[in-house]
Amino acid sequence: MRALIQDWPLLCHKILDYAAIQHGAREVVSRSVEGPIVRTTYAEIRTRALKVRARLVADGFERDDRIATLAWNTSRHVEAWYGIMGAGMICHTLNPRLFAEQLAWIMNDADDRMVFVDLTFVPLMEKIAPLVPGLKRIVVLTDAAHMPETTLPGAVAYEDWIAGAASGLDWFAAAETDAVALCYTSGTTGNPKGVLYSHRSNVLHAMMVTRPDAMEISSRDTVMPVVPMFHANAWGIAHAAPMAGAKLVMPGGRMDGEAIWELLDSERVTLTAAVPTVWLMLLDYLRKTGKTLPWLKRVVIGGSASPRAMTMAFEQEYDVEVIHAWGMTEMSPVGSLATMKPETADLKGEVLYDLKQKQGVAPFGVEMKLVDDNEQGLGWDGRTFGRLKVRGMAVASSYYGGAGADAFDSEGWFETGDVAHIDRHGYMQITDRAKDVIKSGGEWISTIDLENLAVAHPDVAEAAVIGVTDPKWDERPLLIVVAREGSKPDAATILKFMEGKIAKWWIPEKVVFIDDIPHTATGKINKIALRKMFSDQSEGPATLPIASVAKPI
Ligand code: AMP
Repeated sequence: MRALIQDWPLLCHKILDYAAIQHGAREVVSRSVEGPIVRTTYAEIRTRALKVRARLVADGFERDDRIATLAWNTSRHVEAWYGIMGAGMICHTLNPRLFAEQLAWIMNDADDRMVFVDLTFVPLMEKIAPLVPGLKRIVVLTDAAHMPETTLPGAVAYEDWIAGAASGLDWFAAAETDAVALCYTSGTTGNPKGVLYSHRSNVLHAMMVTRPDAMEISSRDTVMPVVPMFHANAWGIAHAAPMAGAKLVMPGGRMDGEAIWELLDSERVTLTAAVPTVWLMLLDYLRKTGKTLPWLKRVVIGGSASPRAMTMAFEQEYDVEVIHAWGMTEMSPVGSLATMKPETADLKGEVLYDLKQKQGVAPFGVEMKLVDDNEQGLGWDGRTFGRLKVRGMAVASSYYGGAGADAFDSEGWFETGDVAHIDRHGYMQITDRAKDVIKSGGEWISTIDLENLAVAHPDVAEAAVIGVTDPKWDERPLLIVVAREGSKPDAATILKFMEGKIAKWWIPEKVVFIDDIPHTATGKINKIALRKMFSDQSEGPATLPIASVAKPI
């Protein structure tokens, strides 16, 4: 029997409709790429997104065409995003931290027809455009006054481009299962793979993210996603904030501690989210200047493990609650959040921080399981670790173009590539990427645990651990350390600091000091690059070494 309930499709542009109707005057504030702080509202963004939709149609683009963006988090980017999605086309966010050849490869794989590009990335796009023959239109996200001299064929300023849009055209009547957005994983080996989201998965994911036991976003919040829209939809916040009617603050291209603090303070941001590298810069700035975070209530830390010392600094020194989260581009991306259950709500002191080291609990819509090498399920005892598999309402069912099919099994489980354990209360903890785990004398050593411990040392700014070949134990951990500015720790003190805090045989024999730890395009420690620098070349060269060459911008 079919239910007698309306078939109201879950469509991304309905999020913007809702924000414009119920929270139309709510501000969206951006640090513009041109420099000044720019203020607009959800109502205005909707009007302009509809212009984007109309102009795309007028330019001859059609349903399912892939339309790329190479842009920072700004209100113009949000307009372009919703305009593309509401036109029945597919919004393909590109990561500007990749090199021109990598981006050209990705754009050709996606068959992108058009690109919106920020001023900052015009020189990069000038290198890419000749390599992408399918590209028909390039729009620079600025106005005529700021339009640069460029060799980009037919490049036009965004403000001129939408000024010519017809009005009166409504959103495209899409089905909720239609594809709406495309994002390539940073893929640490092999070619990058595209994850193709649907209207439905994005809307459901946004509902999941706003919930109280997730990021708890309401219309009373001011939300600043420092995590870029090109990193898995700003972890869903670019949908979740307008869905909740929250004021949105977009940091543009400046991610340094001072710029981030300025916006947190002047806009009275209550919730923000980014990878640990960003928070390292902010905490450093706060310590140097004595500035505080009086408005901020919650900070979401994910993308890599939040070091214990970072979590404690936010909570104890600045009175900001840390929500440690885990996810993957393939999961839209949120997979778990370390928020409190009644069983854990009263924890205090070190045991609280033991819990906050964990990546947390799967929200409704995400299922998890742990398996051993024989595919046997493992118990949730908080100790036994195995390969983590997931499935759910916003989890990929395959990659774009059929790449990487072996990651998906016949029961719909997706192999995350992460190794984890889960405790009896359902809190999952990642111990490693499967390919980073160190096998020493037949036992596993968690590089994440060692890294967390090393950065707890007051003289250590950042730390990474890789396995190096050892004639007796097969592999041993090597600790790579960036010292905190102004301090000169030696290896013996750091190793001594680790004693008694982890199993003795986990403690590395060697420590090396370097000036900078290389990061991937999404801000994770680049272990492939470190292995190339410090150990044997055991991992063969990737077809396209996407993660080994992230560049600073
Ligand atoms: P990406 O799709 O680029 O965001 O990368 C996803 C991968 O990042 C996951 O499979 C994990 O290995 C890693 N990751 C994400 N969040 C965390 C976290 N909180 N702790 C440890 N690793 C994480």
